[in-house]
Amino acid sequence: MKATVFSTRKDERLYLEQAFTNAGIDLAFEEVHLNVKTAELAKGSAAVLAFVNDSLDSACLERLVALDVKVVALRCAGFNNVDLEVAHQLGIAIVRVPAYSPYAVAEHALTLMLSLNRHLHKAYNRVREGNFLLDGLVGRDVHGKTVGVIGTGQIGTVFCRLLSGFGCRVLAYDPVPSSECLDIGVEYVDLSVLISESDFISLHCPLSPQTHHIIDHSALANIKGGAMLINTSRGGLVDTSAVIGALKDGRLGGLAIDVYEEEADLFFEDFSDQIITDDQLMRLTTFPNVIITGHQAFLTQEALHNIASISASNIQAVFGGNECPNSL
Ligand code: NAD
Repeated sequence: MKATVFSTRKDERLYLEQAFTNAGIDLAFEEVHLNVKTAELAKGSAAVLAFVNDSLDSACLERLVALDVKVVALRCAGFNNVDLEVAHQLGIAIVRVPAYSPYAVAEHALTLMLSLNRHLHKAYNRVREGNFLLDGLVGRDVHGKTVGVIGTGQIGTVFCRLLSGFGCRVLAYDPVPSSECLDIGVEYVDLSVLISESDFISLHCPLSPQTHHIIDHSALANIKGGAMLINTSRGGLVDTSAVIGALKDGRLGGLAIDVYEEEADLFFEDFSDQIITDDQLMRLTTFPNVIITGHQAFLTQEALHNIASISASNIQAVFGGNECPNSL
């Protein structure tokens, strides 16, 4: 059996080759994103492996079905880029990797939060240039502060557990509270309370019509002055222009993001010798209190290994006629 990998990155290739060789599936690697125009590259494959910025809209799914592709295996947990209703109508299986390492993402969120708070991004550059002044590097103790966590599923729960060692108050908002979080003293509150009382806010809910721009103008109007926002979940959770406004007027004390609303045509590529025309992203890079990483929160050896092996077993399960627990 053959499967085509779209949006292939160098960092994952070895892990995929190893897992799929073990599963007896040949892989064809493509660097382009999967969309209706590139779907043709899957010709001859029974499955495709897709990633976060591939566009599995109805036109793309129809094209894949016409090419006799039976399975779309998402190499990620989120599935906001797939038209599931159409996939079900067409009978093409969609499988995903619901959990590969919640630690990877939660630890990256914490890294961003601590780095932003202690200005590590500025200190790193300053010291390299022989400047050992401390001006502008004053941070705040996390101990005793309030951290708001929006979404306490697998990643949010690990994030809360990591925070529990800091001696801070942890507030959470999630329609389905986690018993593990309750056990470690996390307080579930209304979103408005979380927004207005938190010194740090970290987003860990999925992107859906309900959560789109959950951080918008009105949320930012109610944040505690100087609060810092961390987003390692999905770019669409945050209204970028509203965030730029809140950074400009100083209400928002800092922003650290691993995901960006318009990342699809930028992230995972090298544009270092080109002019980037996304003015909002470029504006964000000019703030001294903004850290941006390019969707790397998941990127640990353990996560890459798990993504590859779970993707291979998902495809095997579908073709083996077994119930795949990771089907959508
Ligand atoms: P999960 O499904 O285990 O948890 C999501 C939680 O969000 C659930 O508890 C759910 O009840 C909650 N939720 C749903 N709607 C909500 C709302 N309106 N308000 C508040 N909470 C709400 O998912 P997870 O594995 O913890 O992953 C969370 C998200 O992290 C994913 O959806 C994905 O977008 C993102 N993610 C990012 C990366 C990265 O590399 N940056 C990697 C993996 C996952």
